[in-house]
Amino acid sequence: MSTAPVTAPAAVRPYESYVYAYPHKTAYRPLPDRPALRALWAGQRTDALSLYLHIPFCEVRCGFCNLFTRIGAPGELTTRYLDALARQATAVREALGDDGPVRFAAAAFGGGTPTFLTAGELDRLCDIAETGAGADLRAVPLSVETSPATATADRLAVLADRGATRLSIGVQSFVEEEARAAVRPQRRAEVEAALGRIRDARFPVLNIDLIYGIDGQTPASWRRSLDAALAWRPEELYLYPLYVRPLTGLGRLGASGDAAWDEQRLRLYRQGRDHLLAQGYEQRSMRMFRRPDAPSEGADDYACQTDGMIGLGCGARSYTATLHYSFDYAVDMREIRSIIDAYTTTEDFSRAEVGRRVDGDEARRRHLLQSLLQAAGMEVADYRERFGGGPAEDFPAELARFAALGWLDPAAGPGLLRLSPEGLAHSDALGPALFSPAVRAAMAAYLPK
Ligand code: SF4
Repeated sequence: MSTAPVTAPAAVRPYESYVYAYPHKTAYRPLPDRPALRALWAGQRTDALSLYLHIPFCEVRCGFCNLFTRIGAPGELTTRYLDALARQATAVREALGDDGPVRFAAAAFGGGTPTFLTAGELDRLCDIAETGAGADLRAVPLSVETSPATATADRLAVLADRGATRLSIGVQSFVEEEARAAVRPQRRAEVEAALGRIRDARFPVLNIDLIYGIDGQTPASWRRSLDAALAWRPEELYLYPLYVRPLTGLGRLGASGDAAWDEQRLRLYRQGRDHLLAQGYEQRSMRMFRRPDAPSEGADDYACQTDGMIGLGCGARSYTATLHYSFDYAVDMREIRSIIDAYTTTEDFSRAEVGRRVDGDEARRRHLLQSLLQAAGMEVADYRERFGGGPAEDFPAELARFAALGWLDPAAGPGLLRLSPEGLAHSDALGPALFSPAVRAAMAAYLPK
């Protein structure tokens, strides 16, 4: 918590980093005591957990991607990976114990590209989630990520049969030259055919990911991509600003950011936002837009700020109330390959290896961050109920600065902290501004590998 005096707002770079989880994995460190999962989960609420299964394989490595994934899977690697996943699922379910109710309220398969797996392997993945981890996939929202080349009819049929409610496809751009510039070459016809197959399989929610800020992208070409996506009437659209990060394909090409690029991205963001709002979509966060008539997107009783998460797979994180943990993390392909190989030979999954403790201050920051970055904002009463004091007492300097920058919506009233449209546009600057000094220092000390 900070009590520093408020100074005049400094120039703000709008694209510091995307805060999809706090603390970021680059703030994790090896846990010297390797705590037993059974002890970590004892006494935790386990009746509304979220389950995430991570598949670290893709057909290509997109130039912008810093996710934990490798190209291809030689030999029987996917089989060995699923074998390890099954061992981990069993170990984790055992660690959750039987003293209290254990229930998963939501599930997701992410990556990488989960549909890199064959139809038969996807069936096995669902078995692991159900019989290994204990999730009832047909009873809860199940979200699966896919790509144009791997969204084949046989894989989609398995996913539909096993209860997937949301398919999310990374298109990035419908303009072939832009896809090439982002080092994700793909043909428009292939993308359209994949979208047709997903619609044929009748998942309740289709999400399309698009990227803005690609080299050569113009307001006109961005509009073409937006309209091509809108033609499918997707229930959700995510608009991502392009980032160039260390060790990614674009990073190695020497692409880098400057003020003009920031301007381009902000301009395209506003254009995209306004276009989707005009088409009747609702903005849920800086990146996420939803059709108002889309079926409810998530578990009714899972709240990402407060509830636990079980991640299975070598790139997945798990969260208890006091520890976030996972395995080692890398972006470089050789490092990723060796971490995956080590995962597939692991027999003992009963301990947490790498992670970060989350104390009271970090829990407050996380709650504020993850709530404030949603367009609906944060109910002050919820925060007060969980932590005792209010956010204005815990983060006076940060909130005063956000207000001075025009990032808070003055019309929200005293019971609600909500971002203004400009605040939402600057989510990727606002989020990092709430990182604690300790997390910031750990992230700065992390050496990308
Ligand atoms: S963006 Fe998606 S498809 Fe591309 S390399 Fe990353 S995980 Fe794979």
